[in-house]
Amino acid sequence: MSVTAKPITRVVDELSRLPGIGPKTAQRLTYFLLRAPAEQAEALAEAVLELKRNVVLCERCFNITDRTPCEICSNGEREASHICVVEEPLDVVAIERTGQYRGTYHVLHGAISPIEGIGPDELKIRELLGRLQSAQVEEIILATNPNLEGDATAMYLTRLLQPLGITVTRLARGLPVGGDLEYADEITLSNALAGRSQI
Ligand SMILES: [Zn+2]
Repeated sequence: MSVTAKPITRVVDELSRLPGIGPKTAQRLTYFLLRAPAEQAEALAEAVLELKRNVVLCERCFNITDRTPCEICSNGEREASHICVVEEPLDVVAIERTGQYRGTYHVLHGAISPIEGIGPDELKIRELLGRLQSAQVEEIILATNPNLEGDATAMYLTRLLQPLGITVTRLARGLPVGGDLEYADEITLSNALAGRSQI
């Protein structure tokens, strides 16, 4: 039998399931919370609960938000004529951090991957086409990851979008091949955005 009290083991176990957190870190965080004031532990617990209760997907761009349409979609100063297509909500965060983009987004929630059985129907592609019917869109910036799945997705979208007479561009320059957009630094991402090329 373990000498550790059950409530401690439970928190350690839960924390170890998070990405990037090994058993050692989980243990350190748990003992930190144990020593912290009760309010701090409660604030964390409440924040996690609220995360799952009050977060929805934006009905327009499918980004994660607490209201729909989200802050970006309902901001009149953002150019609705430009849609930047990304794989995941964290990619929006990365591009927003550059402060260089004034358009809107569309989050696909994944990329085409035959190996994992993810086809176009599993992504928010139909919804993207729907947006093109209801808004005047001039440019679609494909900001999928510079890897196999991201390229396949960009190619698929280009074939769909080009016949519609929309300018389709792709982030390319400066991004590490095979990398993940969300890990790119701000300068690299700014350059990739500025140097986007028409497909
Ligand atoms: Zn939105």
